[in-house]
Amino acid sequence: MIFSQLNDSGSLSAGERHYYRSARFNANAVKFHFDGVHETQSSYLSTPWPGESTWRGSLNMTPEHICDMVVDLDRKGIRVIAHCTGDGSSDLFLDAVAEARRLNGPNGMRHQCAHSTLLMEENLVRFNALDVTAEFSPVLWYPSDFSYARTKAGEERIKNIYNFKGVIDLGGNAVMGTDWPVANINPWVGFETMITRKNPWGEREETFYGSTISIEQALRVMTINGAWSMGIDDKAGSIEVGKSADLIVLDRNLFDLEPQGNMHNTQVDVTLIEGQLVWDRLEQFKACGLTAVWHKDEVPEFYDKM
Ligand SMILES: [Zn+2]
Repeated sequence: MIFSQLNDSGSLSAGERHYYRSARFNANAVKFHFDGVHETQSSYLSTPWPGESTWRGSLNMTPEHICDMVVDLDRKGIRVIAHCTGDGSSDLFLDAVAEARRLNGPNGMRHQCAHSTLLMEENLVRFNALDVTAEFSPVLWYPSDFSYARTKAGEERIKNIYNFKGVIDLGGNAVMGTDWPVANINPWVGFETMITRKNPWGEREETFYGSTISIEQALRVMTINGAWSMGIDDKAGSIEVGKSADLIVLDRNLFDLEPQGNMHNTQVDVTLIEGQLVWDRLEQFKACGLTAVWHKDEVPEFYDKM
């Protein structure tokens, strides 16, 4: 993905995507910051921020510019990843994708709403209708010292924060991005807290951090949903004959566990990519003469709790 604040509909990025492309790296996407963040109350909301009479946050581009840009990039076959932390900015993004569909027709493009921190209730159904992926980032979806400081949008909005359930229940595609280095790079922290919406370490007890999803739904979020959003679900994202043998073996059976406190520290014992052994944490395959690319028995320090 190429980060850009260009004013010319991403024409420079359109060229750069070919430069960075490789067999396993697809740079055919541009990320734009449509609005700001919650800490500075610059997320663009559909109504004023609590305690404000008119301030709704900041939009970095006009709605007209957003629409022109999304229509243009859609026509060029470049995926738009729109940073939208307020429910007003995602509303404008979905409007722009609707306009792209109207002008460009159904061309298979799968655009993405990044972070999707707050979504308007009436927009949940549009993710499915417009083939837009809702990407959620775990910074604020479970209670922590960090997330607590970001709940300025008010308790009413925070109740539905990171609305995985709302998007999934209406047939939309939801995925998770770690949002590292803002949040923990360990995806298992996000995985556990999708299912619990509770602090994995039992440090905080707040319960108004959105709706949980099932372990089966969380597994799809982490696998086939991500593949679909990238347009590679025909060859990756699930275990099927004819697909790439990209597999991990875990040190525990997630279905046997009480989720809170027992999933965020999951260890991956074995990783296969296209059938090749690339990670063998316990060197279990050594006796068979197979050596993994990585086989350390310790994870890096930054992988721990942040
Ligand atoms: Zn972002």
